[in-house]
Amino acid sequence: MNAQNTIFDRILRGEIPCKKVFEDEHTLAFYDIAPQAPVHVLIIPKTRIVNVASAEAGHTDQLGRVLQTAAHVGRLLGVADSGYRLVFNNGPDGGQSVDYLHCHLLAGRPLAWPPG
Ligand code: 5GP
Repeated sequence: MNAQNTIFDRILRGEIPCKKVFEDEHTLAFYDIAPQAPVHVLIIPKTRIVNVASAEAGHTDQLGRVLQTAAHVGRLLGVADSGYRLVFNNGPDGGQSVDYLHCHLLAGRPLAWPPG
């Protein structure tokens, strides 16, 4: 697949619909299509970064904004106090299936640790 044409690039361009939770100038948050918890939201930067491993010094702002949006989504969805897990899958062994940096926010049930 072309690097600019991941499913998340297409969601950002409005070519594929998503169930939006929050959007601002820098980030988009939307429900995962195959939820692994009662609350499962993906947060992506609007500037494309492939993953954490490929992030550069110039991406610091976008990375910080993804985390700020995650915290905002946690408050919006009422799970800030009950808690949530943030996950960045990175590369094949990390389970990354979409080559566009994304943060999973999982909540709504106790989450096992270690993840297995
Ligand atoms: P990864 O495995 O790369 O960490 O996470 C990719 C996530 O994207 C998966 O949890 C998968 O369910 C989700 N996903 C894949 N395609 C779509 C889609 O078209 N729409 C939405 N909302 N989520 C998707």
